[in-house]
Amino acid sequence: MEIINRRKRMMSVARKLRREENRTIGFVPTMGALHEGHLSLIHEARAMCDVVVVSVFVNPAQFSPAEDFDSYPRDLTRDAALLAEYNVDYVFAPTVEEIYPPGFSTYVMVEGASDELEGASRPGHFRGVTTVVAILFNAVKPDFAFFGQKDAQQAILIKRMVRDLAFNTEIVVLPIVREPSGLAMSSRNNYLNDEQRRAATVLNRALTQAREAYEEGEHNTARLVELVRATIEKEPLARIDYASVNDAETLEQLDKIDDRLALVSLAVFVGETRLIDNVVLGKTKKHVAAEA
Ligand code: AMP
Repeated sequence: MEIINRRKRMMSVARKLRREENRTIGFVPTMGALHEGHLSLIHEARAMCDVVVVSVFVNPAQFSPAEDFDSYPRDLTRDAALLAEYNVDYVFAPTVEEIYPPGFSTYVMVEGASDELEGASRPGHFRGVTTVVAILFNAVKPDFAFFGQKDAQQAILIKRMVRDLAFNTEIVVLPIVREPSGLAMSSRNNYLNDEQRRAATVLNRALTQAREAYEEGEHNTARLVELVRATIEKEPLARIDYASVNDAETLEQLDKIDDRLALVSLAVFVGETRLIDNVVLGKTKKHVAAEA
């Protein structure tokens, strides 16, 4: 496994792999502090592609000044050891200056959907995400790139960017990996103490209740959101930022869940730590096929 710090080196490795060796490149962008959620993406990349590249880059452009860029957990030695175990071929771990050289002034922005949900709570966040992913895609030139459903809106926006800007990369989105308690794995779970970690399971409990209510026939989204809010409000250590039901592809707000897939998503503060989680409701392709 080679650890690459330079963008130029990454580009020449990718060029050689594709042009001379005709090998498919699978790419997993991360901010490090790796956990099993990341590893599930790497596992799939390993299964689907000849060469696996993982980036570890805490991207300043997606943090607002009040957010946790400085305190975000960083441990490249631990991450690199895990990645070697998972038979990753290249780790791309550039410095901030390498990605944003002096005079940097070009940004990629998916209009409209970037301002909803996470974007409404974190202005500028997705401009930073789509910009860095565009830069990383140009450096790595992946055939496939792997993202987690944990960041559902991010996956939607990246798919849109790839389509709109004609990137030659297929986006693969994989399910949320959870701890046995139901808590969605996240690097930010590192901030939680034991009591907060227990309290944080309320996100998944609230979403599970919404799913059960939906399955019992409640398709009115206002009532589903009310149910989610009521559950979160019962947990004294939790403070809700938003809970919302949106079209799982366009992010349009839904009044009721009919034949489109619906994304039920929420952001909740547990102490100072902001956590997100979601569930998709509606007829899956499997259900539709079974009925046909
Ligand atoms: P991050 O390092 O938080 O930027 O995440 C890197 C990638 O891992 C993103 O595509 C995330 O959606 C994905 N990811 C993070 N947590 C999970 C999880 N619990 N399950 C699945 N994917 C995840």
